[in-house]
Amino acid sequence: MTLNWWPPTLLTQVEYVATVFAVALAIERLRPASRHRPWRALAFNLLTALIFVYLTALLVPPASALLDPARERFGRLIPLHFPDGLAGSILQTLAFFLIFDFFFYWWHRSQHAVGWLWVQHKFHHQEQWLNVTTVHRYHFSEEVFRAFAIYFPMSILFDFKPVTVTWFWSMITLWGYWIHMNLKAELGPASRWISGPQFHRLHHTPEHGDRNFAAFFPLWDRAFGTYRHPACGEFPERLGVRNATAGNTLYEATLYPIVEWAKALGRLAAVPIRNRRKVDESR
Ligand SMILES: [Zn+2]
Ligand SMILES: [Zn+2]
Repeated sequence: MTLNWWPPTLLTQVEYVATVFAVALAIERLRPASRHRPWRALAFNLLTALIFVYLTALLVPPASALLDPARERFGRLIPLHFPDGLAGSILQTLAFFLIFDFFFYWWHRSQHAVGWLWVQHKFHHQEQWLNVTTVHRYHFSEEVFRAFAIYFPMSILFDFKPVTVTWFWSMITLWGYWIHMNLKAELGPASRWISGPQFHRLHHTPEHGDRNFAAFFPLWDRAFGTYRHPACGEFPERLGVRNATAGNTLYEATLYPIVEWAKALGRLAAVPIRNRRKVDESR
């Protein structure tokens, strides 16, 4: 695995993120869901976004390349073909996002249910002042894991055409920005079908953190019993994780999950030794 320390797409990505942040932050000011947002917290998110964008641009392409031989071998086991023309394109787009969201749903739900995945995802949920910049407030390893948990199984099913990949990718990231916005935008009954800032805001509350896991289609939450419909005017102010600190430190943005995984591995390795000692002592 070779690393390109100055990823060729880095500058374009930074420009893209900066532009979307600037536009979205201006829109948020028109109708904010919460008026309280310390500037320090915003500055911290901008710094973590920069770390996230750099480290994912550095690590995701080589990590994804590790899967190329498996993709070559098993790729499109269940090939999905769509007719040419507008109807075919619309169908293909819908199928792509539905399949993406199915894998995203189960990956995201696992992150909340499995301890060693939660240490990685917790940083995203330590956000107390949800806003568009929260979208990149992730530990960089999440994106690496997604290459294995979401994009790899998808490539088994789906034919990624080079022309459409960029377009799909932009839509996926733009939707992430939209659902994290600090915006009083209510979709009402449509919340059952399509996600928005209110639907995802509930997922960021300590009370409903185990609800609303989908990125695009709440359909998956409804199908698997985790849907929480936002009530009219419901935009909770209290966000974050129960019994947890704000997590606004560079340590939590970078090393925390790695240290926790190392500790867990250490504990795992220590068990047989301790057991061996007990056996020795009892002799
Ligand atoms: Zn979550
Ligand atoms: Zn979120």
